[in-house]
Amino acid sequence: MQTAPGRVRTKIVCTIGPSSREPSALRALLEEGMSVARVNYSHGTRPEHAETIARAREAADALEQTVAVMADLQGPKIRLGTLVRPLDVAVGDRLTLVDRPEAGGEDGVLPFPHPEVYGALRPGSRLLFDDGAIEAVARSVAAGRAAVEVVVGGRLSSHKGVAVPGATLRGAALTDKDKGDAAHAVACGADFVALSFVQSARDLEDLRAVLDASDPRRSVGIVAKIETRAALDHLDDILRAADAVMVARGDLGIEITPQEVPVHQKEIIRRANRIGLPVITATQMLQSMVENPRPTRAEASDVANAILDGTDAVMLSAETAVGKYPREAVAMMREIAAIAETQMVYRVHESPFGEIEHAQPIADAISDATVRIAEEAGACLIATSTWSGYTARQVARERPRLPIVALTPNESTRRRLALSWGVQSLLIPQYASTDDMLDLVSDALRASGWAESGDVIVVSGGIPVGGGGKTNFLKVHQL
Ligand code: PGA
Ligand code: MN
Repeated sequence: MQTAPGRVRTKIVCTIGPSSREPSALRALLEEGMSVARVNYSHGTRPEHAETIARAREAADALEQTVAVMADLQGPKIRLGTLVRPLDVAVGDRLTLVDRPEAGGEDGVLPFPHPEVYGALRPGSRLLFDDGAIEAVARSVAAGRAAVEVVVGGRLSSHKGVAVPGATLRGAALTDKDKGDAAHAVACGADFVALSFVQSARDLEDLRAVLDASDPRRSVGIVAKIETRAALDHLDDILRAADAVMVARGDLGIEITPQEVPVHQKEIIRRANRIGLPVITATQMLQSMVENPRPTRAEASDVANAILDGTDAVMLSAETAVGKYPREAVAMMREIAAIAETQMVYRVHESPFGEIEHAQPIADAISDATVRIAEEAGACLIATSTWSGYTARQVARERPRLPIVALTPNESTRRRLALSWGVQSLLIPQYASTDDMLDLVSDALRASGWAESGDVIVVSGGIPVGGGGKTNFLKVHQL
């Protein structure tokens, strides 16, 4: 049986790091409700990531659970070079950035090996260090050298991120390191690859071209991280080119302002729901749990509100990667989700998330009808027979009250659906006819405890399977 007691419909993404990469820790996260393990290629080594992925799979198999693996690529993140020692800076201090990988620090000279940035800086440009904790303003700029004045002080150390809001200085989102990391992740069996600092749909096409070499059947999904102004400007095109989307609030809050993030979060979620694209709300959701066993009231509200906005998944970053209470953080998210979900408006005749876009008239008509018929026929669940996962996602975007069980002969689809709100998935054998499919669906539902003989279910799907056909089939079926 795939549903552990207390399992919620919202999916939980956990970033795996030093606090959570031991097998026993991974097991604990799975037991508390982790659906997706995020491996962050901004930190650690490839052999470590390979081992983490293998351990996550083993732990999930041992618990008979499904876990999807998301490999998160660093993207063109701009960072300080190597400082000999951390440097405390105070308001009014003058610092010099130099285009070198290493430099002192004690003399106020900071290594900053990004030649392209010097070209984009102007006197008055703002520079934000360490996720915006420290701020400086450029005073004078020359090739490979900039004098800046600190306006918000703090401690600078090696490799801290640097942002120059508003300056378009990044090239394509995909760096050479990312290309190698993407191929590595595919070889390790990742289900999703997330691309950082996406600016246009073109960036996603570039990643797809790289993935195609090692994943010709396109079984790995691409997650577009929305964290630049340009991505907000090209949102609909990006959503159409992606397999999932992340509201990457950390960098987004630097590129725009933290004050603007909440409204963009709602808008990104709304547009993703409209087309049935899985959406993850990420970063600082339970940040204080890095150090403390209980979250703040504001954090608990943030998780609940993201769910009520319509997010498919909520994500933990430092909380599970380097925090002191990884297990407690997942349990807390699950408990907040369980309560928020009781307040979701499960409407039978209308999606709770406003307008549903009808791009595929037949498939969309059937998905809409599936939810209504299942309710009115007194079905105990909605079964979707799916090859690509499309049918299951289109039903899930309606946020039905009834459980959604996706049955698929496609193992990679089964795992990718771990990111979609409310969808539990089961593997069934390949089938040749519709009657065959109904038998296999019925057997799998009985064997897994989802339904028993006499139960009424509604089954939708695309026939023939794998024929590229979208949803075109709907049956009210008594087991
Ligand atoms: P990151 O992305 O953690 O890889 O930076 C998420 C974010 O920016 O919110
Ligand atoms: Mn980011």
